Amino acid sequence: MFDYLIVGAGLAGSTLAERLASEKNAKVLVVDRRSHVAGNAYDCYDDSGVLVHRYGAHLFHTNDREVYLYLSQFTDWHHYIHRVLSWVDGQQLPFPINLDTLNQLYGLSLTEETMKLFLDERAEAQEIKNSENVIVGQVGKELYEKFFANYTRKQWGLSAAELEPEVCARIPVRFNRDSRYFTDVYQGMPKQGYSRMIERMLQHPNIKLMLQTDFTEIRHLIPYKQLIYTGPIDEYFNYAYGRLPYRSLRFEFETLAQESFQPACVVNYPNEFDFTRILEMKHATGQKCEVTTIVREYPVAEGEPYYPVPAKKNRELYQRYAEEAAKMDKVYFVGRLAQYRYLNMDQVVREALDLFARLRSQDITRRI
Ligand code: FAD
Repeated sequence: MFDYLIVGAGLAGSTLAERLASEKNAKVLVVDRRSHVAGNAYDCYDDSGVLVHRYGAHLFHTNDREVYLYLSQFTDWHHYIHRVLSWVDGQQLPFPINLDTLNQLYGLSLTEETMKLFLDERAEAQEIKNSENVIVGQVGKELYEKFFANYTRKQWGLSAAELEPEVCARIPVRFNRDSRYFTDVYQGMPKQGYSRMIERMLQHPNIKLMLQTDFTEIRHLIPYKQLIYTGPIDEYFNYAYGRLPYRSLRFEFETLAQESFQPACVVNYPNEFDFTRILEMKHATGQKCEVTTIVREYPVAEGEPYYPVPAKKNRELYQRYAEEAAKMDKVYFVGRLAQYRYLNMDQVVREALDLFARLRSQDITRRI
C-alpha cells in the first residue's frame, strides 16, 4: 500500500514526491505516461550531442527565494540572463521594447526622456478590454502591428483583440536600455539540465517511479491512500463538461555544422514566416561544442496541451471541474494541467510546496 500515488513526474509531481518521501517518510509511487521524467521541462542530448529542450525553451527565473533554495539542493546553476530579439523590418531588435529598440528601428537617438514623449505622441488612450487595447494604449498602432499583432495571432490563433488584457500586459515597455527579458532576482539554468535535477529529486528510497504508465491503467490495480494528480483536470473527470482548450506547438529541430546560428537564445518572428520564433539553447545552457541545434516553433491547434487558452468561457469551464475537484476526499490537483493555468516552473514548485505544507498540517491535526 502506497501512502501517495502521484500522477505526473513533472516539477509539480516530483516536488511533492520528494517532500513527502523526505519529510514525512511517506511511501510514494510516481507514474508518468511519458518515457521520461521532468514533464515539459525535459531536456536531453540530441544525436549530435547538443543539449536541447524537447518541449520548448525553459528558462528558470524567480523572485521566490524559498523555491530557488529548494531547487538548489538538487542542482548547481549556470548563470544566464535571458534576452530576446525580435525580427522586425529586417533587423533583430531587443524585445520587450526598450530605448535601443526604438533607436535602432527608426535610426533615432532618443533618450529616456524623449522616448517617453515619442510614445506619448503615438499611444492611443482607450478603455482596456483586451490585449490589443493594452499595447496600443502603451505604444500606439504602428509598434503594435510590428511587434505584437501577428505574433499574437500566430501564437493563439486569435487576434489580440480577442484575448484577455493579461496576455499582453505581462510584457513591459522599458524607458531605459534594460534588455533583460525577466527581471527576477534569481535567473539561471540547472548546470546539468532539468532532467538531471528532477532525477535527483526522485532519487529517494521511498519513491518508486513507473514511466510509460498511464494513471488509467493502474488506478484500480495499485493500492494507495491518497492521490496527487498533476495531469489534465478535464481528463480526470472524463471530459464530463467538455474539453478544456489548449494551444500546442510543433517543434522543428535542425542541427547545423556551425558553432552558433543567431545572437540570442530566442529570436521572435512576428511577421515573416509561419513559425513564431527560433530557439538556440546553447546561449542559455552555456554548452560549448562545434555544432548547434536550432528549433523553429510553429503554434498549432492540436497536439500536446501546452498553453491554456486565456478566454473567459474557458475559465468558467475550468471552474466547473474545480468545483468537482474540491468535493473529492484525499485527491489533490496541482500543476499547470490540473489547475488549467499557465504557470512558470517556479510557480509550480511554489504550488507544490504549499500543498505539501497543507498535507503536513492536516496530518498534525489528525494526530492531535
Ligand atoms: P508538466 O511538466 O506538464 O508535467 C505533467 C506530467 O504529467 C507530464 O509529464 C505528463 O506526461 C504527466 N501526465 C499527465 N496525465 C497523465 C496520466 N493520466 N497518467 C500518467 N501521467 C500523466 N516555465 C518557466 O518557468 N520558464 C520557461 O521558460 C518556460 N517555458 C515554457 C515553454 C513552453 C513551450 C511551455 C509549454 C511551458 C513553459 N514553461 C516555462 C512552463 C513549464 O513548462 C511548467 O511550469 C512546468 O513544466 C509545469 O510542471 P507540471 O509538473 O505542472 O506539468
